[in-house]
Amino acid sequence: MLENRYASLYVYEIRTYADQNGLAAGRLMAYVAAHEIGHLLLGPVHSSSGIMRAAWGEEEYRDMAHGRLDFSEAERQALRGVGAGTRPAVDRPEMIAQNNVTRRQASN
Ligand SMILES: [Zn+2]
Repeated sequence: MLENRYASLYVYEIRTYADQNGLAAGRLMAYVAAHEIGHLLLGPVHSSSGIMRAAWGEEEYRDMAHGRLDFSEAERQALRGVGAGTRPAVDRPEMIAQNNVTRRQASN
């Protein structure tokens, strides 16, 4: 069920975080958009690292600067399956366990 899902990007906050972490705002916005699109397609889950990590830190910002922050292999497989009619990961407990993700209660 992918109907009626939406994501929000907060430009002011993105610009602020970009300035604080030495990134171009457009680059950070692209990663935030990727994270939010990941939620739209995978569900309200986070992983312990990469684009779908709940809170990015120095390592993630450094990887963004070098263009190498990415989805995990399990997330990439799940994303490929979305177009093929595979159920979203949020509906598949085995995917969540495999990916060592945590559910997040707040919206992000
Ligand atoms: Zn999130």
